[in-house]
Amino acid sequence: MLNQTRPLPPAAMSVDVEDWFQVENLKAVVPRASWETRESRVERNTMRILELLEEHGARSTFFILGWVAERHPGLVRSIATAGHEIASHGFGHDLVYTLTEAEFRADVGRCKQVLEDLTGQRVTGYRAPCFSITDWAITVLQELGFEYDSSLFPTVAHDRYGRLSGVGAGRPILELRPGFHEVSISCLPLGKRGIPWGGGGYFRLMPSAAWRAGVRHILQTGAPYMFYIHPWEIDPGQPRVAGLAATSRFRHYVNLGRSEERFRTLLSTFQWTSVRTVLDAWRREVASTAAPAHEPASLRP
Ligand SMILES: [Zn+2]
Repeated sequence: MLNQTRPLPPAAMSVDVEDWFQVENLKAVVPRASWETRESRVERNTMRILELLEEHGARSTFFILGWVAERHPGLVRSIATAGHEIASHGFGHDLVYTLTEAEFRADVGRCKQVLEDLTGQRVTGYRAPCFSITDWAITVLQELGFEYDSSLFPTVAHDRYGRLSGVGAGRPILELRPGFHEVSISCLPLGKRGIPWGGGGYFRLMPSAAWRAGVRHILQTGAPYMFYIHPWEIDPGQPRVAGLAATSRFRHYVNLGRSEERFRTLLSTFQWTSVRTVLDAWRREVASTAAPAHEPASLRP
């Protein structure tokens, strides 16, 4: 039975640090070759997110794109100095399952090196662009020294998200291999998969109170909760591009003008910490509740 008076555990906050023009939804009209000529807004928007987190005493994981880190080294250092976890979003924002294994290894290795050189800290977490994770990529991540992946969105609601064998909405954190965990994006459980409840257009579209009730529900069941946001999502002033398909336009632009206020409300309603902290707490809990093999069953709680 749920205890309503017990304080809820901290939830995991994550920020995918990329610029507005690097988003998959805009790829058809913003070619990769034009990135260098676009107005960069990632530094300003990420600094704003840092301010909002600071106001609420919240900690977060920042999954930073290597392309952005190379061009904004001061931003990466500011995030690290503020006490947040630095993690990798890969280098060039290509969907993982469109790369060969060698290309993926080069992309992820390059980003890890850039981030570690800038901060002097080991990077152990990875999030795939557009949640495009796939089984073979896990082997590469583990070989490169990562300890967790946070790319799985166990929902049926999107055509582009990746899949991992054995991971579903009912197991939000799972040890995929010894020493390597998957920390999924949150869904409200609905059968084997779930309703997206982790962020993005879904967060910007749903009534704010309903969203918060869903987060509370997930935390009250004892499951971890994982939220994600992009710096461009709090930037209604970003350049608008013409020629987008209606679906992509909707996904990218829906309710941008209201998302900072919604984000602030979410920050003030729950306690937030990094993905690493939530993962470590989960591992400790699993270790403490797993009865040793020699212990008589009658002594177990
Ligand atoms: Zn991304």
